[in-house]
Amino acid sequence: MSIIEELPKVKEFKRIGFHSHIKGLGLDENGKAKQIADGLVGQIEAREAAGIVVQMIKEGKMAGRGILFVGPTGTGKTALAVAIARELGEDTPFVEFTGSEIYSTEMKKTEMLMQTLRKSIGVRIKEKRTVYEGAVKELKIRRLRNPYNPYMMIPREAKITLETKDENITLTVSEEITQQLLELGIKKGDVIWIDSQTGRIFKEGRLKEEAEEKSPYISSERIMEMPQGPIKKDKEIVHTITLHDLDIYFATRKAGLEILFGFSPLKEIGQDVRKEVDEQVKKWINDGMGEIIPGVLFIDDAHMLDLEAFSFLTRAMESELAPIIILATNRGITKIRGTDIESPHGMPLDLLDRLLIITTRPYNRDEIKQIILIRSEEEDIPLSDDAIEELTNIGVNRSLRYAIQLMVPAKVLAIRKNKQKVTKEEVIEASAKFIDLKSSIDYITKYEQLMLH
Ligand code: ATP
Repeated sequence: MSIIEELPKVKEFKRIGFHSHIKGLGLDENGKAKQIADGLVGQIEAREAAGIVVQMIKEGKMAGRGILFVGPTGTGKTALAVAIARELGEDTPFVEFTGSEIYSTEMKKTEMLMQTLRKSIGVRIKEKRTVYEGAVKELKIRRLRNPYNPYMMIPREAKITLETKDENITLTVSEEITQQLLELGIKKGDVIWIDSQTGRIFKEGRLKEEAEEKSPYISSERIMEMPQGPIKKDKEIVHTITLHDLDIYFATRKAGLEILFGFSPLKEIGQDVRKEVDEQVKKWINDGMGEIIPGVLFIDDAHMLDLEAFSFLTRAMESELAPIIILATNRGITKIRGTDIESPHGMPLDLLDRLLIITTRPYNRDEIKQIILIRSEEEDIPLSDDAIEELTNIGVNRSLRYAIQLMVPAKVLAIRKNKQKVTKEEVIEASAKFIDLKSSIDYITKYEQLMLH
């Protein structure tokens, strides 16, 4: 049985997009930060401290410890956490959540925390496969009418003929793989690889793109080397999946349910399932097929957590299978939520004892401008000089986040006017149409007051 083929395809919303320009910490070989490097600007001391943390992680010296970023809103705490994950490797899971989120789910708090924890631990699985390479000669997709919607046809299976150097191979592939075929947009003439064991299909170019589109903590199946020449090759296929994905998969399989387009009706995962997963992972590791990839779990507004959550995290830091836990806050001395106890950053002392604290400071005007320029490059949004000036002003006076968020709508407006570049005019127009967070709160508060009268 092929393990990779059995595993679910994960469709997670990409949350890292806002920070996609960040490739690492931008440090030289002596651990010194360059003013601008790897997509990061300024914040020199914090970046250098983060560099030491990365070294500690690599040397296994972070066990039982965590990190705390302390600094005002909008000073790049998330950005730095992303940079740490990037430094640890491209398939390092990165999971982000805000302290208050633990109260907003239908799940029990500890279940939510457990799921989040397991989302931030990856397992890299390697398998050897025989792969056929060739151009698609014929592709027939058999569709059936959707019983719930007669206007919709569902692809059921596909027959695909691959023209290779010496022979033509015809395969009939399952519904799931047909779906994959459609998603990859495969058409006649495309050069693809077919996994002989499973029929799974890979297409050059799309692979990397697809991996990037997916959840930041999943790098999808990758073929280690590009096939050339022979039509039949042994390849090593690598798949990184998180413990949480495995939990869902095992639990769903146990319940006899199908994983349909990533949908799962499970709210809670049993302890027995998690134990089964852990045992399976241990077996993969012992067989030399698997490797644990501890990820980064970033918790913003960590002062919003309560004692139960803090003790969960403290225990998690001590456990054998732990991600790198990074907390962030902009609070000083405050009450621990749900108690009358005042404590630094609203956190219990036994947790604080385990945390290495890094401070972040506000950006100056030039740094804000540099970050805007990097985002304009990353998102392919050419800016005129006056647009750069205007966005920098917005970044200084409102927030950096808001300035960056306005760039895409401003581009849409510029394209409508057939402009090659976004100018000050579109920036102003976009900021009139979309307000920042502070203004939106003021707006709704005013309305609430009006409604009370
Ligand atoms: P915080 O967590 O402190 O609120 P954040 O990283 O979540 O900060 P902002 O600081 O609001 O978010 O950052 C807005 C944008 O600027 C993001 O796209 C972020 O990646 C980017 N950014 C923040 N700091 C830097 C930096 N030092 N260099 C490059 N980009 C940065």
